[in-house]
This record gives sequence, structure tokens and C-alpha cells, in this order.
Amino acid sequence: MKNINVETVLDVHHWNDKLFSFKTTRHQSLRFRNGEFVMIGLQQADKPLVRAYSIASPNYEEHLEFFSIKVPDGALTSQLQHLQKGSEIIVSKKPTGTLVIDDLKPGKRLFLFATGTGLAPFLSIIQDPETFDKFEQVILCHGVRHKSELAYKEFIEYELKEHPFIGEMIERQLRYFPTVTREPFHHQGRLTQHIEQGTLCELLGIPPLDPAMDRAMICGNPDMLRDIAILLEQNGFSISPKIGVQGDFVIERAFVE
Ligand SMILES: Cc1cc2nc3c(=O)[nH]c(=O)nc-3n(C[C@H](O)[C@H](O)[C@H](O)COP(=O)(O)OP(=O)(O)OC[C@H]3O[C@@H](n4cnc5c(N)ncnc54)[C@H](O)[C@@H]3O)c2cc1C
Repeated sequence: MKNINVETVLDVHHWNDKLFSFKTTRHQSLRFRNGEFVMIGLQQADKPLVRAYSIASPNYEEHLEFFSIKVPDGALTSQLQHLQKGSEIIVSKKPTGTLVIDDLKPGKRLFLFATGTGLAPFLSIIQDPETFDKFEQVILCHGVRHKSELAYKEFIEYELKEHPFIGEMIERQLRYFPTVTREPFHHQGRLTQHIEQGTLCELLGIPPLDPAMDRAMICGNPDMLRDIAILLEQNGFSISPKIGVQGDFVIERAFVE
């Protein structure tokens, strides 16, 4: 088909029984902005089975990386979770999406709010040097139910700091706020609670949210998106109305329920 490329799986990593990541080859013609998504999937006998996926790898990497849920009865992920090195997947040729830093007004701090696989687009955004040129501080917040769902924790906390191009920026400018709702952890509770009660900034030891200098991106399920968007609006932030128009914050649906 003319709108898709066929890519080969290079590596698969299972975080637990619900989450996995995989890397694929990247067609040289595929260009994207960090934070965008593509349609990916499997070629079926009759027609391709595809779903939207945020690209987790930054746009300067030679490969593509995806971070995926395993929905037990999910049409795509019940099959996709069995991918192995050498398997083929299809990837659409036209990345798109609203989670791009170009659509944020200039600011000093960038808050990235993710739940579950909503972390995926932010993995590419925190590996983009432009993010750290535009913002003095980047605060990556990841809310999950169980500790085992804190995928990429070691990567964010340790490995990225050793990165040859962006390691120093990460060390100086990135803060990470993982939080868990259903078992003991050093940060517990929903991201919405931490925003509403001010504990997010308090625990990080940084000044409270301020629309004059802060910008935000949100990616998660529809309830989380709505709740965080409302909280931001109550604090004086305005959403970017559409692609290409700047706002104080942008959102993307990581999945639709
Ligand atoms: C813009 C966009 C970007 C997306 N990026 C990603 C991504 O990077 N990684 C990813 O895993 N999914 C992502 N999704 C969701 C993805 O498109 C599929 O829904 C998911 O892969 C499951 O596909 P499925 O066919 O197995 O099940 P579906 O029939 O699509 O979904 C079945 C049910 O599973 C639940 N569900 C679906 N996706 C998720 C999820 N990610 N986390 C928790 N519950 C979910 C929902 O309740 C849904 O109704 C994205 C969706 C959108 C719209």
C-alpha cells in the first residue's frame, strides 16, 4: 500500500504482563516532530489492522521505538505483544499530533503530565535538545497504578544522564516525578491530587504552578486529560485550540475509552 512502510522489529522488551516496548527499523523518508504519533499495525489477509501510536524515540535516531499496552482482548495488542526480533509491522507515512512544543507559547518551565503509556510521546520530547533550549526546566510526571508500570524509570533517572548529546541538559534541566496509586512508593497518589494540593511542586522543591512562566503537555486516558486540563484552566492556563496555534498547554489522547 502506498501510505505505509513495512518495518522490521529489531528488539522487544517486556516491562511486565501489561506493558512492552519495541524498536523497529525506520524508513529513511519518515520525518516527524518529537511528540507526534503514527498508525502502526499488522498486515492481515484482508486489510491492515492499525492503531495510533506515539513515537517514543527522538527524531534523530535511526530506529523507531514504541511503548505499548497489552490489552488482553485488544484486536491489535493481543497479537502485537507476540512480536519478536525479525517480525514485520506496518507504519503509516504521515506522522501527526498535537503534542508538539511548537504549539506552546514561550515559557520557563515545561510540565509533562503522563499516565500509563501516555509517557511515550514525552520520551521523544525529553530526548530533544530543542526542548531544553526552549525551557529552563522540564518536569516529567508519570502516574501509574503499580511500581512495575514505571517503565523507563532507570532510563530517565540514570541512562539519559550518560547520553553523549543531551546528558548534561538532562542532568541540569530535567526533573522526574513518578507517582503510584495502588501500592507504597515514595510518591503516592494521582497526578491530579498532586497538582490540586500543590504537593507536586512542594515535593520537588520548586515554585508553584504559574501560567506566566509555565507550559504543559498532557497525555493519558480521557478522564485524566479532562481532569488535568480543568485544573490547569482553573489556574489560569489556556489550551492550544488546534495544531499550529500556540497555547499554555496541549493535550493528546493516548487512548480512547
Ligand atoms: C493519538 C493516540 C496515540 C496513542 N499512542 C499509544 C501508545 O503510544 N502506546 C499504546 O499502547 N497505545 C497508544 N494508543 C492507543 C492505541 O491506539 C490502541 O488503542 C492500543 O494499542 C490498543 O489497541 P487494541 O486494538 O489492542 O485495543 P483497542 O480495541 O484499541 O482498545 C481496547 C480498550 O483498551 C483500552 N486501551 C487502549 N489503549 C490503551 C492504553 N494505551 N493504555 C491503557 N488502556 C488502553 C481502552 O479501554 C480501549 O477501549 C494511542 C491512541 C491514540 C488515539
